Amino acid sequence: MSIDNQRQKEISQRGMVKRRTAEIVGAGFAGLAAACALAQRGWLVRVHERARELRTTGAGIYVYENGLRVLEALGAYTDAVSDAPIANMREVRDDHNRVISFHRWDNSARVFSVVRQQVINALASAARRHGVQVLTDSEAVAATPTGTLAFADGAQTQTDLIVAADGTNSRLRDSLGLLARRKLLADGAIRLLVDKTVEERNSAEPGKTIEYWSGKRRVLYTPCSKDQIYVALTMLDNDEVAKAVPLRKVEWKISFPHLADLIDRLGGDGRYDRFELIKLKRWSSGKVAVIGDAAHALPPNIGQGAGCGMMNGLSLAVFLDRFEDPSLALTNWELQERPLTDHTQRVSYFLGLPTAWPPAVRAFFFKGSSRSKWMVRQRTMTARHKPTGTEDL
Ligand SMILES: Cc1cc2nc3c(=O)[nH]c(=O)nc-3n(C[C@H](O)[C@H](O)[C@H](O)COP(=O)(O)OP(=O)(O)OC[C@H]3O[C@@H](n4cnc5c(N)ncnc54)[C@H](O)[C@@H]3O)c2cc1C
Repeated sequence: MSIDNQRQKEISQRGMVKRRTAEIVGAGFAGLAAACALAQRGWLVRVHERARELRTTGAGIYVYENGLRVLEALGAYTDAVSDAPIANMREVRDDHNRVISFHRWDNSARVFSVVRQQVINALASAARRHGVQVLTDSEAVAATPTGTLAFADGAQTQTDLIVAADGTNSRLRDSLGLLARRKLLADGAIRLLVDKTVEERNSAEPGKTIEYWSGKRRVLYTPCSKDQIYVALTMLDNDEVAKAVPLRKVEWKISFPHLADLIDRLGGDGRYDRFELIKLKRWSSGKVAVIGDAAHALPPNIGQGAGCGMMNGLSLAVFLDRFEDPSLALTNWELQERPLTDHTQRVSYFLGLPTAWPPAVRAFFFKGSSRSKWMVRQRTMTARHKPTGTEDL
C-alpha cells in the first residue's frame, strides 16, 4: 500500500473528523519532542527515522531546567532522568590541576547529567503513548513548501505539516534552500562512557562535573548514572593526534598525567565530532518547519543544543494550536522563539573561543567570567528560561 493510502486508511479508522497530519523526519531530541507535542494537541503524527533503531550517538548529555520543563510537559521527564545525578557543581581546572573557577547551580534551576540513550528512549516511549507512529529504516530525501515529502525508496506523501528534524546535514533543509550560514568551528570532541570504579560509585559528590584543561586539550568528567561516567575529550580540529579514534592514550596521559587511571579505563568506542554553527534564512518554508540542529546547530559549550531543539519542538506545536492559519503560526513561532536560540548560539560560540587562547589568558578569562554577574546571567539565561508550553507546570 502506498504511504498516502495507508495514511488515509488510518485517518478514516480513527473517526470521521479529519485530524491534521504531521510527518516528522528525524527521531532525535528535536523530532521526538515535536512529535509528542503535536500528538498531545490532536495531530496525527508519524516520525521517520532513517536508522534501523532509535540510537543516539554521544554518550552523555546535560539537561538543564529549560529542557527538563519540556520533558515534563511531554510526559517524558521521570523516565528521562531516573537514576541520573543532579549535576549542580562544575569545577574548571588549569594545566596544573588547580581549580580556576567553580559554579554551583542554586535550587531554582535543576540540571541533570544523563546517558543520552535514556532520554531518547523516554521521549520515544512518551511519543508512542501519545499515539505517534515511529517508523525506522525510513529515509526522507526532500520536502516541498506545499507539503510533499519524498522518500529514498521513491515513495511520496502529502501532509499538513512536515517537520525537518534531521540534524546538521539535513537534506530537507537543503532541498528548500533555507541554509544561510554553516561554519565549521576550530574544535571538536570525542565522547565516551566509562564504568564507575567502586570509589566513584561511593563518591560524596556524585554530581560534580570537572573540566580539566591542558594546553588546548580538555577532559570533561561527568558522572551520568549510578554506574557510568560520561567523558568528553575536546581538542582543536587540527590536533590530529588528540582527535584520533581509537584514542592515543599515551598522548593523552602526557597531557593529563593526573588522569592516567581514567584514561587507561577508556574504551575504543568513542567518536569524534567537529563542532559547527548553523543559521537559517528562515525556520520554515510553507508547510515545512525546520527544528533542532538542522536549524541552529551550536557548539556544546553551554550544553544547550538538545535543550533548544526540544524547546522549539514544543513551541512549534503550541503556535500551530494558537493560530488558525499555519503560515501565521510559523511566522509568529520564529519571531518569538528565535531570539533566545540566537542568544544561545552567540554565548556558546563565544565560550568556545578560549580553547585556542594561551592557558594563562584562558585561566584569567574563566576566573573573571565566573565572578561577573553579567556573564553568568548571559551563560545561564537559556537554562533559566521558562519554555513556551510549560507555563502551567
Ligand atoms: C560534544 C557534544 C556535546 C553536547 N552536549 C550537549 C549537552 O550536554 N546538552 C545539550 O542540550 N546538547 C548537547 N549537544 C548538542 C546535541 O547533541 C544536539 O543539539 C542534539 O543532538 C540535536 O538533536 P536533533 O534532534 O536536532 O538532531 P540529531 O540528534 O542529529 O537527530 C537527527 C536524527 O535524524 C535522523 N536523520 C537524519 N537524516 C535523516 C533522513 N534523511 N531521514 C530520516 N531520518 C534522518 C538521524 O539518524 C537522527 O536520528 C552536544 C553536542 C556535542 C557535539
